[in-house]
Amino acid sequence: MKTEVGQPGLVIPEKDNERVRFEGLTDEDLAQCVHCGLCLNACPTYRETGLEMESPRGRIYLVKAAKEERIPINETFLQHIFLCLDCRACETACPSGVQYGKIIEAARGEAIKAQPGGRLPRFLRWLVFKQIFPFPGRLRLFANLLRFYQNSGVQGLVRKSGLLKLFGGFGQAETLLPKLSSEFFAAPEAEVVPARGETKRRVGFVTGCIMPYFFGETNRATVSVLTRNGCEVVIPKSQRCCGALGVHAGARETAQELARRNIAAFEPYGLDVIISNAAGCGTALKEYEVLLENDPEYAERAVAFSEKVKDISEFLVDIEVDTSFGAMDKRVTYQDACHLAHGQRVRSQPRELLQSIPGLEFVEMKNSDHCCGSAGVYNIVQADMAQRVVAPKVQNIENTEADYVVVGNPGCMLQMDNALAASGVSTRSIHTMELLEQAYQAAESNGHADSDA
Ligand code: SF4
Ligand code: SF4
Repeated sequence: MKTEVGQPGLVIPEKDNERVRFEGLTDEDLAQCVHCGLCLNACPTYRETGLEMESPRGRIYLVKAAKEERIPINETFLQHIFLCLDCRACETACPSGVQYGKIIEAARGEAIKAQPGGRLPRFLRWLVFKQIFPFPGRLRLFANLLRFYQNSGVQGLVRKSGLLKLFGGFGQAETLLPKLSSEFFAAPEAEVVPARGETKRRVGFVTGCIMPYFFGETNRATVSVLTRNGCEVVIPKSQRCCGALGVHAGARETAQELARRNIAAFEPYGLDVIISNAAGCGTALKEYEVLLENDPEYAERAVAFSEKVKDISEFLVDIEVDTSFGAMDKRVTYQDACHLAHGQRVRSQPRELLQSIPGLEFVEMKNSDHCCGSAGVYNIVQADMAQRVVAPKVQNIENTEADYVVVGNPGCMLQMDNALAASGVSTRSIHTMELLEQAYQAAESNGHADSDA
């Protein structure tokens, strides 16, 4: 017997055995989908293709059929599973509470086990997820080599030479490489940055794995905003990459090991709150409890850790942020990073922060919670779909005539800046914390100006 779903082509035989696969995913998780289709138009890949198999509902059918071994995990399966942006817009739209992120991430883990040489070549996966991202020292070495490449003129020569065309996806990735920060972010030797004035709270800070090198300014601004708000900031040196990139790419075991390392790195400090300033990392950190739920040694510790994680904008609103901002004569709009709006349900807090800055004109953009197409490394490995997804975003940003599009995730900043520049739109992205820091500095400058007068 066969079941035909939605569009022709997705034909799935009934299950033929009960063997359980797909770590972390239960039959109950999949059964929560009642096939209503209310998620379809929230899905960027469905909007672009109109295909059931590129929709949340279609992918859930595929995963269910593969889990029950009614269809093979082959290249076609991988294509559908990896064309998903893991943006979680379907979770927000779903009235049935389907945890789509859990489904797609478990499916990717299983898909990579079954087809390790498939969507991402095996060597590249081994290099990136097992040999570079888990090791801070290697990441630093890589960043230093990249700095030489960017600053020595070699990059310019390579780009002009046309050599990049020979390397296909690699070459494409190089053209998307952002400029490294002029000064890398480094945690102090003592691992603690004192509060300015009275210490009211002690918080941990997750620096991110590439943030210190590509977004040093964002990390410095985040720490400065925290210390201005009476926080002593603990930055453990033994922390690692959060594992988000690995989870999204199906490198589940590497992500689990990184999660264990991070729990062990932050635990000794007895912190009440652990802060993230990157939406993708924040969601991954809040979901360590899912990632490690079957680990007898770490399951409970993961729950305790995840409960402490907050996005920086969520935390600042909770503690009633110091609003002694100076005036800023700028027009801004806001992009809801998917893993903040859909992954963490943090929407109002960044807007509240922006609207508390005097002089700042805030204008909503149309479909601010539609994905920009960044999605970790999606804009590199699925460049065509990423371009299609970002095109309406560029138009919506342009329509606001904003100076800045504010966002709480570094990947979105890169994706939007590349697309805006390519379209000749002058708006540029800025992280929420950099804007807040500028507003505090504006108050200090005004204070100096007043005292000089
Ligand atoms: S996570 Fe995003 S791209 Fe994937 S199915 Fe859901 S809405 Fe579509
Ligand atoms: S995922 Fe949710 S919204 Fe989408 S078809 Fe299933 S129950 Fe309906």
